[in-house]
Amino acid sequence: MKQIHIIGGGLAGSEAAWQAAEMLREAGHTTETARVTIHEMRPVKKTEAHSTNGLAELVCSNSFRSDDATQNAVGLLHEEMRRCGSLILRSADANQVPAGGALAVDRDHFSGAVTKEIEAHPLIEIVREEVTGLPPAEWENVVIATGPLTSMALAQAVHAVTGEEELAFFDAIAPIIYKDSINFDTAWFQSRYDKKGPGGDGADYINLPFTEEEYERFIDALIEGEKTEFKEWEKNTPYFEGCLPVEVMAERGRETLRFGPMKPVGLTDPRTGKRPHAVIQLRQDNALGTLYNMVGFQTKLKYGAQKDVFKCIPGLENAEFARLGGIHRNTFINSPKLLDETFRMKKADHLRFAGQITGVEGYLESAATGLLAGRFAALQALGGDVTSALPPETSALGALHRHITGGHLSDGAGSKGAFQPMNVNFGLFPFIETPKQDADGNRIKGKEKGFARKRALCARALADVDAWLGAGQAAAE
Ligand code: FAD
Repeated sequence: MKQIHIIGGGLAGSEAAWQAAEMLREAGHTTETARVTIHEMRPVKKTEAHSTNGLAELVCSNSFRSDDATQNAVGLLHEEMRRCGSLILRSADANQVPAGGALAVDRDHFSGAVTKEIEAHPLIEIVREEVTGLPPAEWENVVIATGPLTSMALAQAVHAVTGEEELAFFDAIAPIIYKDSINFDTAWFQSRYDKKGPGGDGADYINLPFTEEEYERFIDALIEGEKTEFKEWEKNTPYFEGCLPVEVMAERGRETLRFGPMKPVGLTDPRTGKRPHAVIQLRQDNALGTLYNMVGFQTKLKYGAQKDVFKCIPGLENAEFARLGGIHRNTFINSPKLLDETFRMKKADHLRFAGQITGVEGYLESAATGLLAGRFAALQALGGDVTSALPPETSALGALHRHITGGHLSDGAGSKGAFQPMNVNFGLFPFIETPKQDADGNRIKGKEKGFARKRALCARALADVDAWLGAGQAAAE
């Protein structure tokens, strides 16, 4: 009997189970020869955010975000998943509610549709139980997809294998900015005391300088900005002390930030030849050098307030954010270090991980990694070449895969720096030349260049996904 165990029936686990079961069925397996078992703890044990017993429950917003596959990384991921036969996308499409260019759903109908299709699949069974320890080695082919709110018993068991440093219970997310939206009339490159790191040239950081007056105004804005509150259960989760929000630091004393993440020592503003009153440093976030994060700037400010407050920072007047900051309960592992290229744990290779626990963010990204993990698990069960299911590096699926596995692009670039959860975005894609002309031969100018580049990225991705799926299909026949 081919047996795959999926722990967690959320966005990732449902998609993983569906993909695996469909591949087994297409290979000719029946209930006598193959089974995919989902172990879902609800309703036996609830999480702090789920409120139903349905599979793939959306715990907050009912939106899968932009559905524009021509020039948006999220919409592109939708389309790639549709082409891969995603159950999550099919159920979302069938249960849409009006939301402009976004794909939003009736959450109960959506979850109901996923649950119904999974329950009806002949090769899938659902067991309602909490898995409280590491799955035994006899479970040879396991996908752990227990999400940001993985039950504490299982999280502690994973923690014991990964070690202290490699599993986080909280996201302490600093905002990430597109480099090309930073004003370099104000900002400059310099490492503190011009210190050279490995491979660095003493100018690794982008610095944003504050005068005393600008600093005081910024502290006021941080203190006054609208914040989201910690939930009661978040306050009791381990390791929270390590990641204080910047606005809490500002409230503790007006100079606290100037002696902490905003200290100006070892830095000289080339415009004045002097040390600024305070500095915010931005550190490169991806090897491509397109994204920079605000060092030490985890925050509980609401998204709208963050945009208002951070655009007051000298040099960020026109900043575009790839991700805004936050702090919330989120169980995730240091995937690039712990997992192999097919999401298996190097130290315990009967365990595969998928979903938010791998360090992606959001319903869609979680489902996308479930899609890949389900395919990897099925190919392993079938004795096939698991690496044939690795997505093309130019695709949105490939971008997420690389983010998790720390894989490198063929042009030498890959993910870099401390591992932090991420949504899909074009900063994770390999370089593409911006087209010079449109389809009618007209020169592309100004703002249109950015859109043209995004369109080129989407077109390349979809062509490569079609070729990849076509090759997989041909191999199966
Ligand atoms: P989940 O969908 O959470 O599924 C994990 C499943 O595993 C759950 O059903 C759980 O019951 C089960 N489980 C856990 N432990 C065990 C165990 N030991 N044994 C058996 N089963 C277990 N993302 C968005 O895109 N938009 C949002 O608005 C949004 N809001 C969020 C709000 C909150 C409060 C939280 C916590 C997260 C939010 N997210 C949001 C993130 C979102 O939850 C995830 O992106 C997505 O649900 C993750 O999918 P997943 O399959 O990895 O985990």
